[in-house]
Amino acid sequence: MRVLLVEDEPSLAETVERALRRAGFAVDVAADGVDGLHQAREFVYDALVLDVMLPGLSGLDVLRDLRSRGQWAPVLILTARDDSKDIAAALDLGADDYLTKPFSLEVLVARLRALLRRGAPERPVVLNAGDLRLDPALRRCERAGQQVALTAREFAVLEFLLRRAGEVVPKATVLEHVWDTNFDGDPNIVEVYVGYLRKKVDAPFGRRSIETVRGAGYRLRSDGG
Ligand code: CA
Repeated sequence: MRVLLVEDEPSLAETVERALRRAGFAVDVAADGVDGLHQAREFVYDALVLDVMLPGLSGLDVLRDLRSRGQWAPVLILTARDDSKDIAAALDLGADDYLTKPFSLEVLVARLRALLRRGAPERPVVLNAGDLRLDPALRRCERAGQQVALTAREFAVLEFLLRRAGEVVPKATVLEHVWDTNFDGDPNIVEVYVGYLRKKVDAPFGRRSIETVRGAGYRLRSDGG
């Protein structure tokens, strides 16, 4: 397995590189964000270990660029202690795991192995169906490039349907995942919210993306309607 390590602190880079090699990985090292991004674009890696604070481009910039190009190799982020903002931003940008410095090399290797077991399935940060776009991290919804204001609950229903675009999703499943398990109101609430969504993301744009499948549930068309 080939790993790219992007770390600007020479002694740490060397220690990590040695530990990874000892664990059987092939390792390439980049000492700044620009070089890291270049290597990540140029070669194919099974995983990346990415420091956040880097000269040139930050680890977050590198991550954003890779994910926006549809590169899904697992990324483990290294951050300074207590950098919860960076950690949250990294996870929202599509990082898979993180470690705060100082960390144990043994744990780093184990985390990396765990990530490699999962492989690199597509896990887009922004959800799309045609020109309907949803960014869960920014809580932002767009249709045809125009921002659409949604309430938290509308957003949650749309996100759930978008994650299953093209599939028929039973009303009960939406209810189970979007409302609390102890919700004991009228299950037709789902219908009400689908109605709200149609008025906001479909009707004004002349679309019909959320289909009712009689007796089965709803289907959000993968082409956005
Ligand atoms: Ca650094």
